[in-house]
Amino acid sequence: MTKDELTELVRHAGVVGAGGAGFPTHVKLQATDIDTYVINGAECEPLLYVDQTLMLNWASYLIAASKAISSVMGCKIVFGVKQKHGDCISALQAAGGDVCVLGDYYPAGDEVILLHECVGRIVPEGGLPLHVGAIVNNVETLYNIGRALEGKPVTHSFVQVGGAVLSPGVWSVPLGVEASKLVEAAGGPTVDEPVFVDGGPMMGQYHKDANFPVTKMTKAILVLPSNSAFARYENMPVSVMLRQARVACCQCSECTMVCSRYLIGYDLRPHKIMQAMAYESMRLPEIVQSAMLCSECNLCSGLYACPMHLSPRRVNQVIKGAMRQQGVKPQFEKKAIYPRAERPFRLVPTKRLMSRLGLGTYDVHPPFNGEFVAERVKIPLKQHTGAPSVPVVSLHDEVQEGDLIAKLPDNALGANVHASISGLVEEITSEYIAIRASGL
Ligand code: SF4
Ligand code: SF4
Repeated sequence: MTKDELTELVRHAGVVGAGGAGFPTHVKLQATDIDTYVINGAECEPLLYVDQTLMLNWASYLIAASKAISSVMGCKIVFGVKQKHGDCISALQAAGGDVCVLGDYYPAGDEVILLHECVGRIVPEGGLPLHVGAIVNNVETLYNIGRALEGKPVTHSFVQVGGAVLSPGVWSVPLGVEASKLVEAAGGPTVDEPVFVDGGPMMGQYHKDANFPVTKMTKAILVLPSNSAFARYENMPVSVMLRQARVACCQCSECTMVCSRYLIGYDLRPHKIMQAMAYESMRLPEIVQSAMLCSECNLCSGLYACPMHLSPRRVNQVIKGAMRQQGVKPQFEKKAIYPRAERPFRLVPTKRLMSRLGLGTYDVHPPFNGEFVAERVKIPLKQHTGAPSVPVVSLHDEVQEGDLIAKLPDNALGANVHASISGLVEEITSEYIAIRASGL
């Protein structure tokens, strides 16, 4: 198989980054001068066990897929897995995989940090892994590449339902299933006023209701009490959060001292950004634009670092959003990056983070429950970075699981979307295609 053939199979299958922003994988595969492919199995968010489920149950499949990529791309493949996940390491190694053993700290799975640990290279500020000759993909993305090699598109996502539910579990879930159905399948909430997190308790997306759909990027649906620290931070309106940032920041710099991107050597100092915001000073463009270097790991917020219960992370999100909206593309000085000398002493052990979050009671290893059976799905047309896909089916069409239902627009960044169940197309909107399962 040639690289072009591999890329075309992956493009057709609609594979996108399953562990992050959903960047289309076929675009990553077009990179040239790649000598290393790192598979991210760090699963560093507390409470999550999805990638471990995959590595334990599909180790041989993952290694076979990685070998196919390695022979086509001519690069070495290494899996980054935490030392504490010894069973996953053993399974991958027994199947012939090369594993880089990571320490148990957060956020070891940030691709910049992972590359430093596994390959000894640091991505330049504002750059990408390909700028240091590497590609990083999550374990589930590799699984989906493996399926693409067999001509099978992305139709399901492995999703953990955990936190305050009766029977936590991991399911293979058809895309477009509403989160509430999964919470129901997990026995329902065990707290009176639940809130819902799409993802982990540090970087996940907060929702008041469980009416959001499972997408190619969904890893977990966590149910948390509405009075949990995560809910308090994420629920705060942006205006209140910015006002608090202006009046309450005492410039102690605790946020910068633990900032994972600062410690890796980037010129990102969240306390300086907070100061610039306090004085509404756009005269410090280089400080404000440094928010673009933030991985949104959330260590700087009151969840872990800030004694004043502020969230530099959310301030950075606001700045990043505004810059993107205005089309501002920050320029970073091209320079070599070196980890700061104090980094080894400032890494945040996951155990300490867990005890700070106060979510230890929810840390249970859930069983894999197989495939989730859906009666109806609302499959989003945008489950990836780039433009929404364009429907290629009509109302009342009969579709089979795996049929192409929406196409990546010509000459645009994006991904194909396929039917996740067999059935009747019930609704087509600018945002989703709804399918009702045959016979239900
Ligand atoms: S830790 Fe909090 S109070 Fe201290 S500088 Fe950072 S944002 Fe300000
Ligand atoms: S979220 Fe905070 S700690 Fe994490 S990279 Fe961004 S500024 Fe640094």
